[in-house]
Amino acid sequence: MIENNCVFCKILKGEIPSVKVFEDDKMLVFKDIEPKAKVHLLAVAKDHFKLLEEADEKGRGLVSYMLFKIPQIAKENGLENGYRLVINQGDDAGQTVFHLHIHILGGETLPW
Ligand code: 5GP
Ligand code: ZN
Repeated sequence: MIENNCVFCKILKGEIPSVKVFEDDKMLVFKDIEPKAKVHLLAVAKDHFKLLEEADEKGRGLVSYMLFKIPQIAKENGLENGYRLVINQGDDAGQTVFHLHIHILGGETLPW
């Protein structure tokens, strides 16, 4: 499902440009526009749902697929020395785009 007013759905549709580093039928990975680390990628599910708690069976499969595909994508993007995955959930976490995505942060030693 695609949501008309969602920034990440627009990126998935190609209506907003992005610097893509990986794409298949389940996910798109592109560079964050405001990087919070030397390398900051966003892995975005090719299905619009806001939160983990809203994921249906397909969404749960997508999240699992993404999590276990990320190590390969991380290595291909120079993150052999480690990286951090972040999934913000809701306002207190500072979530700003309500389309499930996984931040991939690295390229340097990250502060906690
Ligand atoms: P959240 O705060 O929802 O977990 O993360 C949203 C992320 O999306 C932020 O790190 C923000 O910089 C990034 N972002 C928002 N709009 C765009 C955009 O149009 N293009 C790209 N590449 N990143 C975006
Ligand atoms: Zn969306």
